[in-house]
Amino acid sequence: MSRIPDPDAYFAEVVDKYSEHVNPYLAKLLAFAGFGVEVYGEGCYIEDHEGRRYLDCLGGYGTFALGHRHPKVVEAVKHQLDSLGMSGKAFFSKPAADLAAELARIAPAGLQYTFFSNSGTEAVEAALKFAKVATGRSRIISTIGGYHGKTLGALATTGREKYRKRVEPLMPGVEFIPFGDTAAAVAAIDDQTAAFIVEPIQGEGGIHVPPDGYLRAIREACDRTGALMIADEVQTCIGRTGAMFGCDHEGVAPDIMTLAKQLGGGVMPIGATMGTADVWQKVFSENPLMHTSTFGGNPLACSAGLAAVRVVQDEDLVARSRDRGALMLELLRETQTRHTDLVSDVRGKGLMIGVEFAMDEVGELTVAQMLKRGMCAAYTLNNPRVIRLEPPLIISEEEVRKAVEILDGALTETSELLAMLA
Ligand SMILES: *Cc1c(COP(=O)(O)O)cnc(C)c1O
Repeated sequence: MSRIPDPDAYFAEVVDKYSEHVNPYLAKLLAFAGFGVEVYGEGCYIEDHEGRRYLDCLGGYGTFALGHRHPKVVEAVKHQLDSLGMSGKAFFSKPAADLAAELARIAPAGLQYTFFSNSGTEAVEAALKFAKVATGRSRIISTIGGYHGKTLGALATTGREKYRKRVEPLMPGVEFIPFGDTAAAVAAIDDQTAAFIVEPIQGEGGIHVPPDGYLRAIREACDRTGALMIADEVQTCIGRTGAMFGCDHEGVAPDIMTLAKQLGGGVMPIGATMGTADVWQKVFSENPLMHTSTFGGNPLACSAGLAAVRVVQDEDLVARSRDRGALMLELLRETQTRHTDLVSDVRGKGLMIGVEFAMDEVGELTVAQMLKRGMCAAYTLNNPRVIRLEPPLIISEEEVRKAVEILDGALTETSELLAMLA
């Protein structure tokens, strides 16, 4: 049952306004892919204007770790709204203090301080700036396929030509090396390097898990040369990969760490850049306002963040992510054996899982088939051959099985479609 009295007119109005005033090309793309208008979200499900419910395995690119509108996060934000919404900026703010202290408690050792912003790309902007200021160097090393955002500074470190080419020249001094190549990383880091920026698991690049020891080797090379290690945990933070942070898998503590996506509990947007006392001293001691954000650290976002971090711990979602992720991987690998013509690889850690297809078009077709069967997924921004499955960490075993069944059915139909076309 639709919550909307006249769903067709509602859809037409929204698409029309998108076409006229938001982005006509995006409107076409979304409508062509079969997406409706989202009107309601609860737990692992998102509902469209026609009242169709979708198991949300896209989850706002990982934003919905706690599902949609987790009651504890909603309650925290509502409660905060009764006293103060945005910050006056001149005063101390308790929600920001509380969240910063809690993040320092759970983060890898030494990450004592947090600068708050409003998105992943802003968190990365701050990280790059802090690294340059703290080291007095300008060379940044990033990885091919790495995704760090689309604002100019972050884009300069995002490893895909398609998004960079028409904006160049970007921030100079950035070098790209293959992800997961330990020798290349160690060779690239030298005494001119301000920072090595890296995702513990590449998300938009196509869910790539680096070999064991990769992050440790980067850490050691940074220590040897005085370069800073920036872990971009915008997508991997608070439980997504079956550890609290992606770096925890190797017991590595970066100098700077960026967080966003699921940090707002799926209710508020928030970005965070964490750093060591040494970095903060070098960046802020001369000028406490060296980096600022009007909305960053606002009480609503910070109360959501604090509630989210508490829920992850209270509900033991890190262990859940590990267990449900292992089950999903196992079931997906079984499915792969039935579709070896279409699926070339299944990989991931925790509930950050990628399914790679043998051909480009298969991803698109399969995503559309999954949507028809009541499940959202999407391909990764830097790699159209890989679809990502990043369901809420609260997903049940039954829903994991259901998700894989839906993918299985979608693959069978895609296979039949391709055979017809051949
Ligand atoms: C999504 C993402 C970003 C950019 O975050 P936005 O909030 O979309 O600006 C940066 N880094 C990583 C690793 C991401 O996954």
